[in-house]
Amino acid sequence: MIQEYQIRVQPHVAANEQALRSFLADEYGFDVRTVTALRILRRSIDARQRTIFVNLKVRVYINEPAQDDAYQPTEYPDVSNKPQVIVVGAGPGGLFAALRLIELGLRPIVLERGKDVHERKKDLSQITKTQKVDAESNYCFGEGGAGAYSDGKLYTRSKKRGNIEKILNVFCQHGASTNILADAHPHIGTDKLPRVIENMRNTILRCGGEVHFQTKMTSLILDGNRVVGCYAADNEYHGPVILATGHSARDVYRYLNESKIELEAKGIAVGVRLEHPSALIDQIQYHNKLGRGKYLPAAEYSFVTQVDGRGVYSFCMCPGGFVIPAATDKEQIVVNGMSPSNRGGQWSNSGMVVELRAEDVEGDDPLRVMHYQEQLERNCWQQGNMKQTAPAQRMADFVNKRLSYDLPRSSYAPGLISSPLHFWLPEAISHRLQEGFKAFGRQSHGFLTNEALMIGVETRTSSPVRILRNNETLMHVRLEGLFPCGEGAGYAGGIVSAGVDGERCAEQCAAYLSR
Ligand SMILES: Cc1cc2nc3c(=O)[nH]c(=O)nc-3n(C[C@H](O)[C@H](O)[C@H](O)COP(=O)(O)OP(=O)(O)OC[C@H]3O[C@@H](n4cnc5c(N)ncnc54)[C@H](O)[C@@H]3O)c2cc1C
Repeated sequence: MIQEYQIRVQPHVAANEQALRSFLADEYGFDVRTVTALRILRRSIDARQRTIFVNLKVRVYINEPAQDDAYQPTEYPDVSNKPQVIVVGAGPGGLFAALRLIELGLRPIVLERGKDVHERKKDLSQITKTQKVDAESNYCFGEGGAGAYSDGKLYTRSKKRGNIEKILNVFCQHGASTNILADAHPHIGTDKLPRVIENMRNTILRCGGEVHFQTKMTSLILDGNRVVGCYAADNEYHGPVILATGHSARDVYRYLNESKIELEAKGIAVGVRLEHPSALIDQIQYHNKLGRGKYLPAAEYSFVTQVDGRGVYSFCMCPGGFVIPAATDKEQIVVNGMSPSNRGGQWSNSGMVVELRAEDVEGDDPLRVMHYQEQLERNCWQQGNMKQTAPAQRMADFVNKRLSYDLPRSSYAPGLISSPLHFWLPEAISHRLQEGFKAFGRQSHGFLTNEALMIGVETRTSSPVRILRNNETLMHVRLEGLFPCGEGAGYAGGIVSAGVDGERCAEQCAAYLSR
C-alpha cells in the first residue's frame, strides 16, 4: 500500500527518518515495522511563531518496495545528422534551450564567450589575488552563465508550474539532489552547481550537439530580414539563432543598437549587498537567542516596502553565504552573493535594492538604463580605491548619515574600504534605502544594526534592456530566425525562469524550422 500524508512536525522529527516513521505510525495507526520506505514530497518551514514547525507531505510505502521515481527523466535522442540551431550563451537560458532542441530532434551548436565551468573557477580566484577582472571569464561570463557560481536558488514567482517541475527534474537528472523537488525554497549551492552544469554539457555532446568555449559572437548574419547565422571567433555558424547572452553582455546590446535591431530600455533595481552575521539572522528569524540549533537550516528573510512610489526590497538572499565581486570589466565594482549547499558560512547576505524604472532615467536612448548602471559601477570603483576593494558602511551609520570609523569582518574576499555610501549613492537610491531599512528594522527587531554591513553596489539585478520579440513566435519583432532568450533579452529573471524561457524559445525555433 502507498499512502500520502500532510503532516506538521517539530524540526528534530523532520530531520530524522526513524523519528518520522514512528510519528506517522503513531498518528495513523499502522505498524512501524511494515514501512518499507518513506519519501518527502514537499517540505517547508513555518517560522512565524516561537515554536517552529516543518510542514511535510510524505509518501509512505507499506509492505511494498519504493518505486524508482524520485525524478522524471527526459529522453535525449541522437541528433548528429539533424538540422542545426545556434545557441549563443551557455547560461541556464542557453543550456535549457540546447537540451530542449535535442528533445525536439534538432542539433544545438552552443557558442560561449567564456571558459568551461572548471577553468572559469581559476579566473574567479584571480579577482581576489590580482584585483583584476577578466572581461571574458568572471562571475557572469563562462559556462553555466551568471548562475554557475551562485546560491543556486531555484524558486521563482512565475506561475508556470508545469515548466518549473520540468526544469527541476532536468537538474536532478544531471546530478542535483532530489531534495530540490521537495523543498519550498530549493537551492543547489555553488559547490554542487559546476558538476551539474558539466553533466548538462556532456548530454549535449553525447547526443551530437557542439559546445564551443572562448567563442564570442560578434555579429549576426542576415539575409534580408532573416537571421541565418552569426560570426563568432573568426568563424561563421549557420542556422537560426537563440540569443541567450545574459544581462551583462553590454557589447551585445551596443552591437544590436548600432545595427538598428529593435530594443527598449527596461527598469532594473539598484542598491547594495547587506551582510549580517548569520547567527544574528537565525536568532531574529527563529525567535530564539540560541539561534537555529541542530535541525534548522540557516534562516532566510524577505523584506519589501514602498518608499516615495518605488519598491525597496531584499533580493537574492544567500543564507550562510559570501558576498562576491561580480564585475565583468575593468573600472567597475559590482557585488552579488553565493552560498555553498550547506549554507554553513558565518554571514548571511542579500541584495537590498530600490526599483529604478526606465522613465526614471532621462532621454529616449534604449541603452540609457544600462548607461546609468555603468556610471554607478564606475563611481563605486572610484570610491573603492580603483581596485576591487569595495566601499562599505555599517547599516545604522548609513541610516544616520555617519561615516563608519571601522568595519566589521566580512566574507567579501577582495577587501573593503569605509566609505560614506549615504553621501555618494544617488539621492533617489540612498534616501529610499534609508527609509526602507528603518521600515525593515521596525518589522524585524534587531535587523537594523551596526553589526550589519552594506557593500556597494548591486546593479545586475536584471536586464537594463529588452530585445523586442513577438509574444507568440518568440522571434524578434522584425527579424525572422532570431530568438532573444532568457534574462538578457528581458524575458526572465533567475535560473529557473531563464531555463523555462530557454525551453520555450527552443520549441518556437522548432516550429519555425518546420514551417
Ligand atoms: C553571483 C550571482 C548569483 C546569482 N544567484 C542566483 C540564484 O541563486 N538564483 C537565481 O535564480 N538566480 C541567480 N542569479 C541570477 C541568474 O544567474 C540569472 O538570472 C541567470 O543566470 C540568467 O540566465 P541566462 O541564461 O539568461 O543568462 P546568463 O546566465 O547571464 O548567461 C549568459 C551567457 O552568455 C554568454 N555570453 C554573453 N555574451 C556572449 C557572446 N557575445 N557570445 C557568446 N557568449 C556570450 C555569457 O558568458 C554567459 O555564460 C545570480 C546571478 C549572479 C551573477
